[in-house]
Amino acid sequence: MDPYRDRMQRKKAIVDAAIARADRDQGLLLVLTGNGKGKSSSAFGMVARALGHGMKVGVAQFIKGRRDTGEEAFFRDRPGLTWLVLGGGFTWETQDPVHDAELARQGWERVQEMLRDPALGLVVLDELTYPLRQGWLDLGQVLADIQARPPLQHLVITGRGAPEALLTAADTVTEMRDIKHAFRAGVRAQKGVDL
Ligand code: ATP
Ligand code: MG
Repeated sequence: MDPYRDRMQRKKAIVDAAIARADRDQGLLLVLTGNGKGKSSSAFGMVARALGHGMKVGVAQFIKGRRDTGEEAFFRDRPGLTWLVLGGGFTWETQDPVHDAELARQGWERVQEMLRDPALGLVVLDELTYPLRQGWLDLGQVLADIQARPPLQHLVITGRGAPEALLTAADTVTEMRDIKHAFRAGVRAQKGVDL
């Protein structure tokens, strides 16, 4: 008896059973949160995957500050992709909270259109936690719109400090943990890595 083979065979049986159990299709709500790097870049990796399968994709960025990113340059005009930069493409931090809140609400109306469109197989709401934490968007309304989306539409939400109710509603939650970041050693944001 080879103990290694024996152990691997038992492990394989467990994995096979778990795979056999997971036999449903469902539009998933994924939340990528935490202080570590990798939330948005993971979301854009899923955009590439979905487009690669010929799916239609919607992206909405609730940006803190306007920055020309590689992902926007690469993805923006792809067929099958709708890319919204909410807030009119300028910063939210206008020192005018009433105006910022109004922009966020107008932005959410455009997101609602995406969340009602069954043709979109994947929707990404990048940095949605920011306007939520600022109180510009109503969490109850956001959760209701999320729940009411087409049953097979996947939805990815990124941003630090995701509210507990969003984590509860989600199917898959990943917390990026900040162990080290080059910025703290004095390295500025690098093209191809950070933007
Ligand atoms: P990325 O877009 O690289 O996946 P992210 O979405 O996880 O990062 P955000 O909070 O959206 O993180 O911040 C985006 C920018 O801030 C990126 O340039 C990223 O490298 C940088 N960043 C992310 N986490 C940290 C950190 N812990 N310290 C310093 N800079 C960070
Ligand atoms: Mg991000």
